[in-house]
Amino acid sequence: MCYEDKTKEELIDELKKRDRHTQEQSIKDNETVLRAILESTADGIIVLNHSSKVLHINKRFIQLWKVPDELLDEKDAWKIAEYVKDQLVEPERFMSEANIIMNNRTEYKDTLHFKNGRIYERYCHPLIINNVLSGTVFSFRDITQKAMLEKELMRSQKLYRKLIELLPEGVMVYKDGRLFLINRSAAKLLKQEKSALLGKPGGIAAKLHPDYREEAIKKMNKLLSSETTVDYSEEKLILTDDSIIDIETGSFSFKNEDQLFITTVVRDITERKRIQLLEKTISEKSELLKEAQEYNILKTQLFSTISHELKTPLNIIFGSVQLLEKLYDDKLLNKYTKIMKQNCYRLLRLINNLIDINKIEIGFYKLELHNSDVVKIIEDITLSVVDYTNSKGIQLVFDTNVEEKITACDAEKLERVMLNLLSNAIKFTEPGGEISVNIFDKGNSIIISVKDSGIGIPEDMLDKIFETFRQVDSSFRRKAEGSGIGLSLVKSLIEMHGGTIYAKSQYGGGSEFIIELPVYLVDKENISIMESAVTLDSKIETVHIEFSDIYS
Ligand code: ADP
Repeated sequence: MCYEDKTKEELIDELKKRDRHTQEQSIKDNETVLRAILESTADGIIVLNHSSKVLHINKRFIQLWKVPDELLDEKDAWKIAEYVKDQLVEPERFMSEANIIMNNRTEYKDTLHFKNGRIYERYCHPLIINNVLSGTVFSFRDITQKAMLEKELMRSQKLYRKLIELLPEGVMVYKDGRLFLINRSAAKLLKQEKSALLGKPGGIAAKLHPDYREEAIKKMNKLLSSETTVDYSEEKLILTDDSIIDIETGSFSFKNEDQLFITTVVRDITERKRIQLLEKTISEKSELLKEAQEYNILKTQLFSTISHELKTPLNIIFGSVQLLEKLYDDKLLNKYTKIMKQNCYRLLRLINNLIDINKIEIGFYKLELHNSDVVKIIEDITLSVVDYTNSKGIQLVFDTNVEEKITACDAEKLERVMLNLLSNAIKFTEPGGEISVNIFDKGNSIIISVKDSGIGIPEDMLDKIFETFRQVDSSFRRKAEGSGIGLSLVKSLIEMHGGTIYAKSQYGGGSEFIIELPVYLVDKENISIMESAVTLDSKIETVHIEFSDIYS
């Protein structure tokens, strides 16, 4: 049939039919598109009408909630809810919330916690058709992994915070010029409570020393201009209590969500600086010491050279004088040769002492120890100067509480010690006075005392007289000759024996020199070689030399 054969009414009917068909087709198409969208999403979706009948449910929903087919067929939302609720940690809350949501026109979002640990996000949207609440669209998303990640993030954030908190270095983070974070070490360094500083501008807790401000401003401008780092440098901080501390500090700036943060790491280096200063002082001092030691060596070498150079001509003069004495037995000449010999001895004593002091200083002086009767050594040398004391009108007394005491000692050196002490005692004692030498046995040590009734030594000089070239040096009391070397040599010789010496005196009331020597023995072999060393002649010669300051 063609159009010409149809009536007008039939044609209108025909057109209406076609139009309806097109509309129906278009609705069907839209529905297909919507279903496809619902099925393609990763969320589980269920659409309910106002009487809780299921209008649509997607596969993901069924999969998420594990809904059985028979329930699906019934299309009853409450039956589905009743079935799935037991999977949740709080099933009753789930049911009551569902009720409220169904009766509300507002959107709703929350999280549901499952007994097996999974977490779903629930999003509900009211279904409003022609301004009438016609149902609700529920969508569920499995956010278990996201929640776990968030938890992990929180945990690591906590960990980092704790780490920063416990760092021995001070850490301060600034945001908009205000303190945003400060750890314990930084607060301690600034001598402040953390709470008093947080949110406050940077300069509140301490000020930078003026010497460092210019440089610090440059660094701050650099940090503010972009994400960057400024190297560690040393600075000084003036704290609120006006104390100044040395610090080492470095900073970096970083952006987070368009906000610029500046982090400063700071450590107190006051102690380190103090040690550095100390080290510098020590090295300067040791440099000076080294110079002094070098100078001392030079001086010692010079002394040694001069002393040896002097000794040769002196020996020639001495020998010539002795020859003169023998050749011409003339009274007048003898008077002068005696003076010449006396002065030769004095020079010889000075030179010998200088040589020995030098040797001791550079460690070349050695004792020849052998086991000898120290009582006999002291007694013999004391008695050998009786002529001198007699000629000076001084009484010399020797006493001992022990007959014999064998100990390792260098007899010759002990004799020199005694001659030095005795010659001093004679020098500083007036005629009519008394000198006593006493020995006390203390078992493990032996005490030798040389006491005189002379002019005495002022208390403040008692220690000093043992220093080289030291004399109690006021011209009115310098009744005797001397160079101030004797006692320092005596002290060195006694100390080389492992002993001690000190002086006791009352100014104007005499002096006493007390030696304490340890008693011990050395190997026998040493003895035989050493004992032959001291001959009678050399002993007399030593006395002459050591007593050369005393004119008889
Ligand atoms: P010196 O060669 O000058 O005697 P010493 O070192 O033997 O040097 O003595 C140092 C100084 O100690 C002497 O110059 C003297 O002032 C003082 N002195 C030493 N012994 C006595 C003493 N027995 N009585 C008083 N003063 C003494």
